[in-house]
Amino acid sequence: MDCIFCKIVEGTIPSAKVYEDEKVVAFKDINPEAPVHIIIIPKEHIESVREIDENNALIVSHIILTAKKIAKDLGISESGFRIVNNCGKDGGQTVPHLHFHLLGGRDMQWPPG
Ligand code: IMP
Repeated sequence: MDCIFCKIVEGTIPSAKVYEDEKVVAFKDINPEAPVHIIIIPKEHIESVREIDENNALIVSHIILTAKKIAKDLGISESGFRIVNNCGKDGGQTVPHLHFHLLGGRDMQWPPG
């Protein structure tokens, strides 16, 4: 499958990994929007939140727990952070493999553009 994030999971495309277990991989975003910008993905290819159902929903809580752990490890837990998921075209999703952004290390604004 021609999926850039699947290639990161396989290791055929390099990435700056900060965490990995049997279900997920987390790596530094190549184009960071904050001092800390980590992408957390399931190893299984799931295109977006639209493909989450009762059979695979546990991966989402696993990703949130992973984000919490990484935030602590990278020193942004106490000051706060943002977890973002973009879904589909209008949601701003550019890579069709489910991923959550973990952003921190600066004051975040709201609403997003
Ligand atoms: P999206 O816009 O929510 O789909 O986010 C995709 C993110 O993946 C963007 O923030 C990109 O900078 C990031 N990205 C794309 N390719 C790579 C890569 O090869 N390594 C790390 N991050 C990437």
